[in-house]
Amino acid sequence: MRRKLVAGNWKMHGTLQKNAVLLEEVRRGVSGLGCEVAVCPPYPYLGQAQSILAGSAVGLGAQSVSEHAFGAYTGEVSAAMLLEFGCRYVLVGHSERRALHGETDAQVAAKFEAARNAGLVPILCVGETLAERQAGRTESVVAGQLSAILDRFGVAAMAAAVVAYEPVWAIGTGITASPAQAQAVHAAIRARVAARDAEVADGLRILYGGSVKPQNAVELFGQADIDGGLIGGAALVADDFLNICLAANR
Ligand code: PEP
Repeated sequence: MRRKLVAGNWKMHGTLQKNAVLLEEVRRGVSGLGCEVAVCPPYPYLGQAQSILAGSAVGLGAQSVSEHAFGAYTGEVSAAMLLEFGCRYVLVGHSERRALHGETDAQVAAKFEAARNAGLVPILCVGETLAERQAGRTESVVAGQLSAILDRFGVAAMAAAVVAYEPVWAIGTGITASPAQAQAVHAAIRARVAARDAEVADGLRILYGGSVKPQNAVELFGQADIDGGLIGGAALVADDFLNICLAANR
């Protein structure tokens, strides 16, 4: 039985003052829940989140990581640095990183491996654009993004990772993949991993992301291959985020 995970991606939002309120509310609200909950604030707030969440059930994650361990990479942050701030998770390959920062599959794979080598759990984000879906290419696009990891590092690399299926057309748009659409892609992802190792596939948590709200979370999380969610906008509103966590707790 896979334990559900709900991770909040704050993107570039927050202030010290607002975060303090949000983090306290999330910390209080998740106590006693059976699902796992994590938040991914911007880098400068990791220290604040680490201290407010200390000893709580809420895990901490970052939104990106350098593929390099250290060195002359101005503006970058290494996996070891994230560990020092108590991170357990890190997003790699978020569609905004791919689209706005030109991250390629090869770079995403290098970040994935840097995270894993340091002991972080990478959350590998995959997903198709609207044009790719309309051209009937959803499964092949997602398969290619997965293969970038599987072909390079082998299926064992997935044993200590999480996948997030995030259709690009659903991120921040208010348009959610229907439960059936999402389930079909999740099942295809699991089948692809299972073709290499059934046990790894069975244990792999595959999150759905893309305009998850309290109103649609129960049905999405009720699908056989949806193991929780990666939440953007709704993660900034404590009540919404907590209600989504509750939906993962059934
Ligand atoms: C995201 O940023 O990964 C995301 C899924 O955003 P939203 O929930 O706002 O669509």
